[in-house]
Amino acid sequence: MLIDGHGRRVNYLRISVTERCNFRCQYCMPEKPFSWVPRENLLTFEELFSFVRVALDEGVDKIRITGGEPLLREDLDRFVAMIHDHKPDIDLALTTNGYLLAETAQRLKDAGLKRINVSIDSLKPHIAYRIAQKDVLERVLAGVEKALEVGLKVKVNMVPLKNINDDEIVDVMEYAKARGMTIRYIEYMENVHAKAGLKGLTGKEILEKVKERYTIRKVGREGSSPAFNYLTDDGYKFGIIDPHKHDFCESCNRIRLTAEGHLIPCLYFDEAMSIRDAVKAGDIEKASEILREVLRNKPEKNRWSEENAEESARAFYETGG
Ligand code: SAM
Repeated sequence: MLIDGHGRRVNYLRISVTERCNFRCQYCMPEKPFSWVPRENLLTFEELFSFVRVALDEGVDKIRITGGEPLLREDLDRFVAMIHDHKPDIDLALTTNGYLLAETAQRLKDAGLKRINVSIDSLKPHIAYRIAQKDVLERVLAGVEKALEVGLKVKVNMVPLKNINDDEIVDVMEYAKARGMTIRYIEYMENVHAKAGLKGLTGKEILEKVKERYTIRKVGREGSSPAFNYLTDDGYKFGIIDPHKHDFCESCNRIRLTAEGHLIPCLYFDEAMSIRDAVKAGDIEKASEILREVLRNKPEKNRWSEENAEESARAFYETGG
């Protein structure tokens, strides 16, 4: 079992398989052109899996594949199958922008993927364009339909932003609800890579918008999920991911692995250790030692909950959000 330096059990590994993305979401990516990590610096699926196997054998039972945009990594279903074939019963999920989902959903499902989170920030084509800086909506929605059709469980993620998509909070909920999908609103996390001047809605402000349509009651946090859940008066459960709340980190159960082999204990901070050389050398003992050291040094909490904390320097497109 993996326990961190603050006594929290860590059973959830998020793997960013590429930092590349086909969207340029304002809240995530820099506006000016920048260069990607060269492809040859990425760990292969075999190398990534040699570490994943250690984590699975040490008690990780939840894996989420993310990015960048994970569906840009060729033959991702091969990686999904490696994980699934080693431990078929784990919770194996993917977070995607949905753009390439229509053509990949069936293969991913066949490989053993169980769940998908799709980011949908707007149902208005021009607002989706404004946020992603690309004409994306039609393909994303087609991707969601396909994922549901092949039998994947789908959740929707939305980042509500002031004066951009905050009038769509209930509309996106209705869209999700009509398809039996849960929606989770993510508070915008300030970071230096995002467009200057962006303002996110707080969890409280998001709830106010939902209350314009529904009476709601609190359900609370479930297990180690980062979402605080609520129930509408007609029985629909939705969540708010609120990293600015002081109790957000108490049940943190996760670590992150990037495509280059950085093992990251906290989404807020820059600290990371590399397992790259160890897995390249096939030294699994060493990789396992590094994992334990990262866990020993996992911070107790992020700094988004602090008044006047500086912006995080972490790139979410690198760490997978
Ligand atoms: N490309 C995939 C996608 O769009 O879902 C996976 C990677 S993305 C970094 C993962 C999640 O992080 C998305 O739901 C995205 O909305 C969220 N995210 C990225 N930057 C964020 C920020 N600054 N604040 C809150 N959520 C953010």
